[in-house]
Amino acid sequence: MMKVLVVDDERDVEFLYTQRFRREMKDGKIDLSFAFSADEALDKLNTNSYHDVLVLSDINMPGMTGLEMLQVIKHDHPGTKVIMISAYGDETNFNKAKQYGADDFFTKPVDFVNLKDRLFAE
Ligand SMILES: [Mg+2]
Repeated sequence: MMKVLVVDDERDVEFLYTQRFRREMKDGKIDLSFAFSADEALDKLNTNSYHDVLVLSDINMPGMTGLEMLQVIKHDHPGTKVIMISAYGDETNFNKAKQYGADDFFTKPVDFVNLKDRLFAE
């Protein structure tokens, strides 16, 4: 089962992802968990049950940004895959995400067909 930690400051994402991945969750293909800030995500990653998780993170968040968090994750948990999500056409953040070692980059609004293809290709 694939474990995915979704990081976004917008609380609606929990409902959205739970809806969009309802079948995959029911079939035991994916285990989704959520963090609503970079700090909360990093706390979770420091616990044993999150050692093999793939992180799917928003970039624009109050407090520590997704790009800052990406750098911490790649330093502290180098084996953890991180996919960044930002607004469409956000070239600067796209380039920074690549530079900081992001494994992929998606734009909002997320195309869940593409996202599922990407995740289940892992
Ligand atoms: Mg945001």
